[in-house]
Amino acid sequence: MNRPYTIATLGSHSALQILKGAHDEGFRTLAIANRDTERLYRSFLFVDEVIGIDRYQDFPNLIGELQKRKIIIVPHGSFVAYLSLEEHKRMTIPYFGNKAVLDWEASRELQRDWLSRAGLKLPRQFRGGSEIDRPVIVKLYGAAGGKGYMFIRDAADFEARASDLKEAYIIQEYIIGVPLYIHYFYSPLENKLEIMSMDRRYETNVDSLGRIPANAQEGMDVSPSYVVVGNSPVSLRESMLAEAYRMGEDVVRVSKEICGPKGLFGAFCIETIITPDMQFYVMEISARIVAGTNLFIDGSPYSYLNYSEPMSTGRRIARELKNALLTKNLRFVLDDSSVL
Ligand code: AMP
Ligand code: AMP
Repeated sequence: MNRPYTIATLGSHSALQILKGAHDEGFRTLAIANRDTERLYRSFLFVDEVIGIDRYQDFPNLIGELQKRKIIIVPHGSFVAYLSLEEHKRMTIPYFGNKAVLDWEASRELQRDWLSRAGLKLPRQFRGGSEIDRPVIVKLYGAAGGKGYMFIRDAADFEARASDLKEAYIIQEYIIGVPLYIHYFYSPLENKLEIMSMDRRYETNVDSLGRIPANAQEGMDVSPSYVVVGNSPVSLRESMLAEAYRMGEDVVRVSKEICGPKGLFGAFCIETIITPDMQFYVMEISARIVAGTNLFIDGSPYSYLNYSEPMSTGRRIARELKNALLTKNLRFVLDDSSVL
């Protein structure tokens, strides 16, 4: 490569995967870590440089300095958790991804509009407690990793517990089935979608309630909670793969209509629950690399089919950036705000 770019990201979430992939594709790597994580990131040989900051929220103060260097930012979940939408948009460092997608992702209404235009099946949504006619999940706005979600049996249960709800929320039909998180990569250079891997989350305590028989739970004061603590790999019944692929294609196609010609590109994840009649209900979309891909730093069975070499989502991102640089197409894989 004639331009020695450095791939940089915040030291958290999926940074190790992203930076390992960047290193394996020949980039220099930079982790922006906090005081607690600095030493961890320095301990890895594929991390060329670590900049320590006190808090991830201080990252915007670094932007001026980073802008002077040949740096490409690869965002992950912590960027969304620690930086505001405005801070994201103000940043003009070359950024892998299309920031216009952020608005469509951050608003639950716009996201629902996007997914339903793509023809995906969504859980029913209820406008208020009186409409509830089945078990529902109450989700707080902008909640991180399922925190504060409530399972509600019926309208009376909602009435009884509504006073606990201090933040904005949505009420959604509770889908009983197997949660499956499908990790995709859409290449704007090749105009092609790949399924990279899949996982299911491990959530506490909802994933452990099944270990206590229902009759023993009676009278116990436990309610399900959905806080994610880990992920485990899944391979999907092959007859369902075509549908999983189609859902990814439909989401990308509609994104090009709603958020500019570039649409959604790079890594993304569709979060589904599969019901016994083998229908995928879509809970949410994440428009960047998700932490579930950390299971597959060495590649997944699906990425192996395409690459025959270890290809994590992090490495796939770096490969796209490398291919773009080699063919002088970098602008097609960066947000339009990027100053090159
Ligand atoms: P962290 O940097 O660990 O605070 O994570 C940043 C964001 O990503 C938070 O919103 C987390 O809830 C989410 N996150 C972190 N790890 C995972 C995971 N393994 N699965 C799903 N979401 C995660
Ligand atoms: P989310 O914030 O949408 O990723 O949801 C976090 C977790 O809440 C999921 O992994 C599911 O376990 C659960 N969940 C979210 N939406 C639903 C739903 N409509 N039905 C059942 N469980 C859900």
